[in-house]
Amino acid sequence: MARRKKIYEGKAKTLFEGPEPGTLVQYFKDDATAFNAEKKDVIEGKGVLNNMLSEYFMTGLTNIGVPNHFIRRLNMREQLVRACEIIPLEIIVRNFAAGSLSKRLGIEEGTALPRPIIEYCYKDDRLGDPLVGEEHIAAFGWASQQDMDDIVSLALRVNDFLSGVMYGVGIKLVDFKIEVGRVYDGDFQRLIVADEISPDSCRLWDVATGQKLDKDVFRRDLGSLTDAYTEVARRLGVMPKGSAVPIKPTLIN
Ligand code: UDP
Repeated sequence: MARRKKIYEGKAKTLFEGPEPGTLVQYFKDDATAFNAEKKDVIEGKGVLNNMLSEYFMTGLTNIGVPNHFIRRLNMREQLVRACEIIPLEIIVRNFAAGSLSKRLGIEEGTALPRPIIEYCYKDDRLGDPLVGEEHIAAFGWASQQDMDDIVSLALRVNDFLSGVMYGVGIKLVDFKIEVGRVYDGDFQRLIVADEISPDSCRLWDVATGQKLDKDVFRRDLGSLTDAYTEVARRLGVMPKGSAVPIKPTLIN
């Protein structure tokens, strides 16, 4: 079989050239990293779980009209996605204080925020993805004012959707990160949600017990990461208990 052309290799995923122009194959690896890759491990099965969970969330977003890059899942580890120009920002939405916000501002983890807070980090591993403000984004031309309005609107829609879906299965959405990319439809350009939505990029706490069901389990050595992600997948019905076979989410046209 001919080797596919690798377009980009990140810490948790690899992108290959897709079968048609304007598409990419996104491969989910088992590699886990934290603290800007200072902590590393291979967690068997993580890639499969994140592939299924990202498919589930992106399909849900499509069904409520939030544009995103997901086209279809190809197999246990790969999905076909629309190619886009990634805006070099990590867009973080927070509902409760945790992680770097708690550290920076001295707010106890778990404190409810008066409104969702959106933060931006400049995507640059060498710099450790520094927090930036809208002034930096405008001055350095990373996104236009129109892009920023669209990014806020996308981020808040994803937040409402994900918060509701997770609450429905007894999980609190504390915070999450998305990435956004630019696509061209004829003469028009627009922004779509890209990358992945998975427990690698969200903080998810059990509503009743506060148990962490996200990458903090790995960051803070709290137990088995696959057990935590499997529990999220099981509650959502993405992966029934005891099964390695995912349930395919339905795309509503
Ligand atoms: N996050 C992410 N990738 C990053 C940085 C953060 O997916 O490179 C997610 C993280 O999982 C959490 C949210 O963004 O859900 C907020 O992360 P925070 O700024 O608190 O950073 P951390 O404490 O993870 O360093």
